[in-house]
Amino acid sequence: MIRRLFLPLLAAALFCAPFALPAQAGPAKAALAPSCDAAAFKVILDVGHTPEIPGAISARGATEYDFNLRLARVIESRLNDAGFARTSVLLANGPAIPSLVRRVAQANAMAADLLISVHHDSVPQGFKLKWEFSGRQHEYSDRFKGHSIFVSSENADYRNSLVFGRLLGAGLKERGLQYTPHYTEAFMGGKRRQLVDAETGVYRFDQLLILKTTRMPAVLLEAGSIINRDEELVMASRERQLLIAEAVTAAVDRFCAQKPGRTQRASTQR
Ligand SMILES: [Zn+2]
Repeated sequence: MIRRLFLPLLAAALFCAPFALPAQAGPAKAALAPSCDAAAFKVILDVGHTPEIPGAISARGATEYDFNLRLARVIESRLNDAGFARTSVLLANGPAIPSLVRRVAQANAMAADLLISVHHDSVPQGFKLKWEFSGRQHEYSDRFKGHSIFVSSENADYRNSLVFGRLLGAGLKERGLQYTPHYTEAFMGGKRRQLVDAETGVYRFDQLLILKTTRMPAVLLEAGSIINRDEELVMASRERQLLIAEAVTAAVDRFCAQKPGRTQRASTQR
C-alpha cells in the first residue's frame, strides 16, 4: 500500500498537465533473448515500508511489510536461479520517509539496471468494514482484488520504466492474473491514477518518491490486495508467490534482452 506514506509528497500534482505517451512497446522479440547477459544485469528488489512502519494491515492483522519481504525473497531466489546473480534486496528500518530516502540513495549508489519496489495493496479508509477473526476485530474490504503496476514520468528513464512495466503486466497476465482497474475510478479521489496501458495494467504515479528519484528504470508492483479476505490468503500462499516470481523473472529476462547496451554500460561503472 502506498497511499499513506506519500500523501505529504503528492501536493497538487496528481492530476497534472496532459501527457504524451511514448510509443507502445511490446514484448521483446524471441530473437533478441540470447543477448541478455543475466550475470551482469543488476536488479534491485525494494521491500516496501519498514518493520516499524509496516504499511497496510491485512484483513487478518498481518503487516504489509512481512508480505513484501516474503515475496521479495521468493522473487530474489527465482531471479538467482535464472542467472540474475546480481539481484539485491533493499531493506530499511525506522520511520517512513527517512527510510525511503535512504533506500533511494542506496539504489542510486548501486548503479542498477532496474528497480522493482514490492508492495501489497489496501483500500481507502472509507471502504473498510469490520469483522472478527481469531477473537479479534479487524478491518477488511472484499470490494477489490488484483495487482497493479505504477511508473513515474519523472523517473530519469521513464521510457524504459514503462517498457518494463508493460513486460511485467504481460507476464502476470500470461499467468492468468488480472490487474485491478479501480484506480481509474472517480471514487478513488486523490488516489485516482491514469491508466497508461489498459492491456497490462500499468498506471502513472508521478510523485512516488521511489520511482521519481531513482536514476534507473523503476516500477512499483502492488502484488495483490491483503485487505481483501480471500486475496490475503492467496497472497500468503507459496504457489502465488512463485507464480508472481515467475512473471517477474520472465519480464526481467525480456527487458534485459531488449537492452543489451545498458548492461555493458553499467558494467563499466562497477
Ligand atoms: Zn505499500
